[in-house]
Amino acid sequence: MKVKAAVAYEGRELLSIEELELSEPGPDDILVRIVGCGLCHTDVKAREGMGVPKPIVLGHEGAGIVERVGERVTKVKPGDHVVLTYDSCGACRACAGGNPAYCEHTRALNFTDDRFGEPGVFRKGSDPIHGHFFGQSSFSTYAVSRPRNTVPVRKDAPLEILGVLGCGVQTGAGAVMNAFQAKPGSTIAIFGAGPVGLSAVMAAVVCGCSAIVAVDVLESRLAMAKQLGATHAVLAGPQVKAAEEILKIIPGGVDYAFDSTGRADSFQQAIGSLAAKGHFGFCAIPAEGLNLSAVMLGGISVRGIVQGDSVPDTFIPHLIDLHLKGRFPFDKLVTKYPFERINQAVEDQASGKVVKPVFTF
Ligand SMILES: [Zn+2]
Ligand SMILES: [Zn+2]
Repeated sequence: MKVKAAVAYEGRELLSIEELELSEPGPDDILVRIVGCGLCHTDVKAREGMGVPKPIVLGHEGAGIVERVGERVTKVKPGDHVVLTYDSCGACRACAGGNPAYCEHTRALNFTDDRFGEPGVFRKGSDPIHGHFFGQSSFSTYAVSRPRNTVPVRKDAPLEILGVLGCGVQTGAGAVMNAFQAKPGSTIAIFGAGPVGLSAVMAAVVCGCSAIVAVDVLESRLAMAKQLGATHAVLAGPQVKAAEEILKIIPGGVDYAFDSTGRADSFQQAIGSLAAKGHFGFCAIPAEGLNLSAVMLGGISVRGIVQGDSVPDTFIPHLIDLHLKGRFPFDKLVTKYPFERINQAVEDQASGKVVKPVFTF
């Protein structure tokens, strides 16, 4: 079928709107007439690289109406209103465990068009054009999706704008509501008041956070954050250490800090604004410095630990009890030395001869 779609070409800044041919949906596919599609920063980054093949039709915050479904599709039917979201395989360990955002095949299904040639591919004349971006390529009048990334929604909702829920908004809101599970009365700092950060602000209101500090370099964004329920705003800049400002507002620091900027200096300030045992979350990776992509893409938790979190008055007696029951044989680590042989002990430990010297007097 003929569609009008925005094509991203290698080395070209601008997307070009062109009439293309979209393949027929297969038995497991859904043809969606796109009614609205958000623009996400990832579209911009994908245009510039990210290993995304070109030429390609980008777009991954599509919403629309089901036009046709393949014979094996039961989840939706023609006429249903749907929001398209990221794709996942449904079979890997992450998917089976209810964590499709960490699907092992995320890259293949959302970025690199490993499904090239399958339904959902575009064509210009005889030249194929990549599709399947986030399993949808919804910068197009029609898109082919599959049940796993097609979410039926109620018809009394404003369909044109619902697509943003499929990526940017769920990213920010989900960080607070799902990843942090922010508790009522807790405090949070949100770095970056773009679509993702502002969605996090709204979610923090829903969670009942008692203080919500928005941080951004733009006054206008901060004004919007306050409209949406941020209790405080910090205008970041070269002369402003956001962490210090936050600590003035909330002495002791915040319980949660969320970064949506992907900037290393922002990470630093976000971490510096936290209270002891606070939680830091991020959804974009700094281009330089520490490589945290595996942490983000794997949903890995990172937290600092000092002294094993122990409360010595209870923990030490507990370990002793365990030892006396034979369940904590720490004595096996120990080699005793007369105090006079301290240098020998140091040498033996350095060489690996002993694990834990203990000096006896
Ligand atoms: Zn996105
Ligand atoms: Zn999977």
